[in-house]
Order: sequence, then structure tokens, then C-alpha cells
Amino acid sequence: MPSDDSDILFPSAQDSDGFEFDSDDAQFVGEDDGELKPLLGDDYYMRAALRCAQQAADAGEVPVGAVAVKDGLIIARSWNQVELLKDATAHAELMLIASLPQIIGDWRLDGIDIYVTKEPCAMCAGAMVNSRIRRVVFGMRDPRCGCAGTALDITGFPGMLHNVEVTAGLMEEECKEMFQTFFRTVRANARKKKS
Ligand SMILES: [Zn+2]
Repeated sequence: MPSDDSDILFPSAQDSDGFEFDSDDAQFVGEDDGELKPLLGDDYYMRAALRCAQQAADAGEVPVGAVAVKDGLIIARSWNQVELLKDATAHAELMLIASLPQIIGDWRLDGIDIYVTKEPCAMCAGAMVNSRIRRVVFGMRDPRCGCAGTALDITGFPGMLHNVEVTAGLMEEECKEMFQTFFRTVRANARKKKS
């Protein structure tokens, strides 16, 4: 397994907010034909989404983060920016989907997977269907508004032009913890203001 070439094989590890890629996490495929492709586990990408969610939390936004993955590489990152942009549609997943056509040159996001820390809402799940996202992996389930199978199943609704493969509840505890910590802080700050 090559360890010195990881910068070339994993460009996403270079630009990441202080994260150092650990080549021990990776497996490799395609060594026989000379084309090495990274085969990282879902946890790797969810950890990247969690770092995006932390960016949102640090900015006082509800902490939801998302990354887009194609051929094993993270090609875009996003986080919730509703407050900053004063825009109810500025959810992490929707902004991610809107950024991708510029990167890949097509609105059809074939073969792209999204990792997001919280289950998509109706708007974001609908955008995933319309943009042909291959698979969504999410952390925290949302019993009230989650539309990737928990409250409603937009991603798998029969009769839709496209269905999105779903993996639910990956690293759910970590994702939930970030959410709960954020709202605990918001409530504590509100109490402080009152007193
Ligand atoms: Zn949404």
C-alpha cells in the first residue's frame, strides 16, 4: 500500500480544515490495472460532514454539515447558512447540490453520494431526487421532518423519476450530540439574557 502518494490519491485531504488523512483508514482497489482508487469507509466521509456541521455551529447556525463524494473523493462541502444568508432554503444539502453543476458540468449528479449529519427535510430530499443523487448517508434521524424514510419517504417514493439509495443513522450519536450541545448553549444564552 503506497503511503507517500496519499496527497495525490486523496486531494480532499489536502484542503481540509486541519484534518490529516490517515492512510491506515483506507483500502485500495484496482491495483492490478495500475489505477489506484481510494476506498474509504462511510465513517470517513461522515466525519468530514461533522466538521462542516461544526463550522455551522461556530457561526451560530443550526449545526448541519454535508459533503458530496464522487469516485471516492470529496468534491464539495457545505453547511447550514440560514441565519447568515437570511434564507430559509440555505440548508447544507441544498447549497451543496446547487454548487455541484459548476464542478461536474451537469445538473444530473449521477454517481454522486451525499453525506449529511441530519436526515434531509422535504425540500432537500426533493432536490436529491430531482438532481439524481445516487445515495444519501445521514446521521441523526428526524422523526418530525425527516423525509428520507423516517417521517416521510420522499427519497424512496414509488413513482418518482428517480429514487435515492438511503443509509440511515450512521454515527447517529455523534451527530445528535452536536445538535443537542448547540441547542443547550442557545437555551443557556437565552436564560442569561433574561436574568
Ligand atoms: Zn433541508
